[in-house]
This record gives sequence, structure tokens and C-alpha cells, in this order.
Amino acid sequence: MQGGLFGDETATENCIFCKIISGKAPGHILYRDDEVMCFLDIAPVSVGHTLVIPIKHHDNIFTLNNSEVSALAIQTRRFAPIVKRVTGADGLGVHQLNGRAAGQTVFHYHTHLIPCFHGKPMQIHGRKPASQTALAEMAERLRAALK
Ligand code: AMP
Ligand code: ZN
Repeated sequence: MQGGLFGDETATENCIFCKIISGKAPGHILYRDDEVMCFLDIAPVSVGHTLVIPIKHHDNIFTLNNSEVSALAIQTRRFAPIVKRVTGADGLGVHQLNGRAAGQTVFHYHTHLIPCFHGKPMQIHGRKPASQTALAEMAERLRAALK
């Protein structure tokens, strides 16, 4: 069945990010409104690796409407300095992949916010899941920094 520009890579009902949104799968959620959710990546490149996603399922960038683009950009801009400051990072990578050819692995649109450090090679994908304890602790620190 054909869906988005690259085909229906993952049906919405099987989408892990839709499951986190609906509460059917666990997630370390930092923020949510009607259009956007921010939560921690389960396999962070570095501690504090955050994802910003639309609430409505979109496989990739090509079907987002202007309101969603705006809401995603606003939360990305809001979280960028918070993630950098709380993690003590030297820089922050903001990345977004569309389609298998671009390296996308979860087919619900998302923007990565990745804390970067001098001397540590830049990556977009982490290698292993973080401990739930470490994720919960970082989520708590980021939520506190929002206030
Ligand atoms: P991408 O390759 O750009 O599609 O990135 C997908 C990201 O989703 C990867 O960094 C994964 O670690 C992350 N991810 C996959 N499953 C989950 C999950 N259940 N909770 C949080 N992050 C996830
Ligand atoms: Zn989805």
C-alpha cells in the first residue's frame, strides 16, 4: 500500500511514536501540546538526545502542514538552549532524516536535538538503549529547566 512519498513505511497503528503519544508505549515525555510532543530518544547519541515530533502521524517532512512546521520549529527553538545548557554540551546538532535512503529508521516525522562535545565525533544514531533510570533522571532535569 502506498502512503507518503516513500510509501507507507509503517502503518500508523504500528508506529512506535504514535504509541508513545497515545500512552500505549512508554516514553520520557518532556512537553506536549495539541500539535507537538518532545521526548527523550531511547538510544541517545549522548545524554539528553531529544526528539520533537508532530502529534498527527506523518511519515516524513513532505506532508506536514504550515501550522505543524511552525509548532515543531517553535518547540525545537525552545528546547535547543535548554538541552544544551542542562547537558553542558559544547554544541547542539539539529537533524532530521526523510526516507530510508537518508537513514531514517522510524517513519513518524521527528527532529533530533543532539548534544555535541568537542573531541567526540558527530553521530545521528546511538548504539544502545540508555537505562530507564538515566533517561528518567535526564527527563526530570529537562522538565525542571522548562519552568
Ligand atoms: P531516525 O533514524 O532519524 O528515524 O531516528 C529514529 C530515532 O528514534 C532513533 O534515534 C531511535 O533511537 C529512536 N527511537 C526508536 N524507538 C524509540 C522509542 N521507543 N522511544 C524513544 N526513541 C526511540
Ligand atoms: Zn506515528
